Amino acid sequence: MSLNDESRVNMVSYLEKIGYVKSESVKNAFLKVDRSNFIPEHVKHEAYRDTPLSIGWGQTISAPSMIALMLEVSDLKNGLKTLEIGAGSGYNAALIAEICGEENVITIERIPEVYQFGMENLKRAEYRVRIVIGDGTKGFEEEAPYDRIIATAAAPEIPQSWKDQLKEDGMIIAPVGKERYYQELTVLKKRKGGTFDTKKYGGCIFVPLVGEDGWKE
Ligand code: SAH
Repeated sequence: MSLNDESRVNMVSYLEKIGYVKSESVKNAFLKVDRSNFIPEHVKHEAYRDTPLSIGWGQTISAPSMIALMLEVSDLKNGLKTLEIGAGSGYNAALIAEICGEENVITIERIPEVYQFGMENLKRAEYRVRIVIGDGTKGFEEEAPYDRIIATAAAPEIPQSWKDQLKEDGMIIAPVGKERYYQELTVLKKRKGGTFDTKKYGGCIFVPLVGEDGWKE
């Protein structure tokens, strides 16, 4: 085992111990995906610290514990078609691909340089996830409907397009809050007839979702 692999195994044990990693599927995804493939050179030594890291262009990759919490509440399974809003480094998309299957994952990014960075990372790590550039506050109509829509940027409220592009029994998982830099992790489940159940999972801090139905630039 390389030092990198060893650090990854230690991080996953830690995430399990503190109760953020619960399921076998999330555990295996964290064990498989090498976070150091998805971060800039100068922070590589911090790949397996449980902390958010800067990826440039004012954006961050979330702390592994935050990602684990999100993935656990998302209740992912192989075959579920999943749209991620905010591709960033591509790390979370790779984790989702490990669980849902790479052909079922689409991720969208608005900043061209970040899109390029995420695409190169996914390619290097050999994940054939579809990454597109655009304003994710409009969802991504072309591949709708989805079983899961997972936002890794913080919305002032859940955009209508996400609700429309979701299947029955589907779930939206997103940090939502009226403050730009403080949110609650929110899960919406779509019922028959298009009504929604809402659950909240506590406070979190994500970069803002910027776009037509999000925060203004
Ligand atoms: N999931 C990422 C986290 C990236 S941070 C990872 O694993 O690294 C959130 C990202 O959301 C940023 O890159 C930001 O540019 C992007 N973002 C913000 N608003 C967006 C929008 N309207 N559409 C698509 N991406 C958006």
